[in-house]
Amino acid sequence: MSQVFQHDVLIIGSGAAGLSLALQLADHCSVAVLSKGTLDDGSTRWAQGGIAAVLDNEDSIESHVQDTLIAGADLCDEEAVRFTVENSKKSIDWLIKQGVPFTPNDEHNSDQPYHLTREGGHSHRRIIHAADATGLAVSNTLIDQAIHKDGLEIFTNRMAVDLITRRKLDTHGHGCVGAYALNGESEHVDVFKARFVILATGGASKVYLYTSNPDGSSGDGIAMAWRSGCRVANMEFNQFHPTCLYHPQAKSFLITEALRGEGAHLLLPNGKRFMHRFDERKELAPRDVVARAIDHEMKRLGSDCVYLDISHKPADFIKSHFPTVYERCLEYGIDITKDPIPVVPAAHYTCGGVIVDTKGQTDMPNLYAIGETSFTGLHGANRMASNSLLECLVYAESAAQDILSKLDTVPEPPYVPDWDESQVTDSDEDVVIAHNWDELRRFMWDYVGIVRTNKRLQRAKHRIDMLNKEISEYYSNYKISGDLIELRNLSVVADLIIRSALMRKESRGLHYTLDYPNLSAEPRNTLLTPDQW
Ligand SMILES: Cc1cc2nc3c(=O)[nH]c(=O)nc-3n(C[C@H](O)[C@H](O)[C@H](O)COP(=O)(O)OP(=O)(O)OC[C@H]3O[C@@H](n4cnc5c(N)ncnc54)[C@H](O)[C@@H]3O)c2cc1C
Repeated sequence: MSQVFQHDVLIIGSGAAGLSLALQLADHCSVAVLSKGTLDDGSTRWAQGGIAAVLDNEDSIESHVQDTLIAGADLCDEEAVRFTVENSKKSIDWLIKQGVPFTPNDEHNSDQPYHLTREGGHSHRRIIHAADATGLAVSNTLIDQAIHKDGLEIFTNRMAVDLITRRKLDTHGHGCVGAYALNGESEHVDVFKARFVILATGGASKVYLYTSNPDGSSGDGIAMAWRSGCRVANMEFNQFHPTCLYHPQAKSFLITEALRGEGAHLLLPNGKRFMHRFDERKELAPRDVVARAIDHEMKRLGSDCVYLDISHKPADFIKSHFPTVYERCLEYGIDITKDPIPVVPAAHYTCGGVIVDTKGQTDMPNLYAIGETSFTGLHGANRMASNSLLECLVYAESAAQDILSKLDTVPEPPYVPDWDESQVTDSDEDVVIAHNWDELRRFMWDYVGIVRTNKRLQRAKHRIDMLNKEISEYYSNYKISGDLIELRNLSVVADLIIRSALMRKESRGLHYTLDYPNLSAEPRNTLLTPDQW
């Protein structure tokens, strides 16, 4: 039997964004949090480096703002950047209050209690971290707080299928009033009604064959918002990490850039180095340059991967500097003190998303989007390292304030009918879903990846149009499953990425096309508006 639930606020997603918002609201109203798997199944727990914030006396808001604007290749929204950076200290203080065990400062004569590290693009030490597993520390702390919080009801294994809007219900007014969600245990679709709905569903990097993200990064929030009539922006800007372990059993394992920092060489399958042909800094060139060079060589040679080799360094040095990489690779039979590591670039971060203002408010009344799902304007054409967790925290706080200020004015949601399964049957051909998943992620990788051309994008457009038709038919005729919901969302997101990439007639930040290798004179966001807007 499907069930009907009603809360003041429905938060879809339990990563850094969703749980931070939930914890700030639960003392004031009833809150439901949905996660499509376990509470920690998003990207948050995998974040390694840390969170950027202006915490040091030597640092300044202006410096963090300028660094972010430069990284974003003239496409950041300066208001959003300032807003995020100005609120960075407050967000970190809140996390510390929740109990996140950030690494303390070991310099005794410093008045800075936490150790701050520096990352690419940042001109100061401003990355607060918990050793090399910051995301895990944040995730564990927030989950621990959330499961003990009164007023907060947690639903795991519930996959939101679509938003419920007044327009779809044909009641008067405009706005979001809940979501349908597939219960992974009962296999029924439940109704979650709410006065405010928040998409905190993470990114969409699973649209690519290789990704550093967990399986659930299928862009569900972006697709649901788009289908409900919200605009999206800058979907062509996908950040690729240059080195992810290439092994059939090793999903999503990043090989840290520090290996290259310590002298590791990138090699072709024939054992020859190649980075000197692309940049005089060789292996130490910036992330996007290295990713493009690897992609170029893989395409040129038709090879599945390249290799990262640090075996010329003493074994003790390797084991003591890179214990996690050493252990993890050994699990797959690769001894990095002797063997080169097979690596591929991998989709890492979705810079575009659902358009929101500084309160996380989307185009639709009572619908918010926060975290990687959203487009705030902070990242521009390229995300600066460690600004993403910060964005989750700052926008969770501002959305909480906005929701609390409107709590007494937004009416109860109207009657919502049950999910209608009367027209569909059980699928007898799940192979279609598996096949389309593979096909989509493969052509996105080959044609819409790190280096693009008009011809490749047109090929991808042709394929996504066919696939979308097939998936829509399948969705209309058969009972839904988790895989089908994600495939349907991935196909929407893939289409948005391809269309946005086709619209950008220049190379800027993370979008690089051989047909337009230069910057255009006037930086512009790529805005897409759905038909029903
Ligand atoms: C390997 C790795 C390293 C990184 N390192 C850093 C770093 O050092 N610093 C930094 O700032 N950023 C880093 N990032 C990026 C950062 O981790 C993410 O941008 C951030 O964690 C996103 O948080 P989120 O709350 O928006 O989404 P997520 O943490 O991805 O959570 C998404 C949530 O939404 C739920 N969900 C999704 N779809 C549905 C649905 N249909 N129904 C119900 N629930 C749904 C999921 O179950 C999950 O709970 C890294 C990312 C990766 C992958």
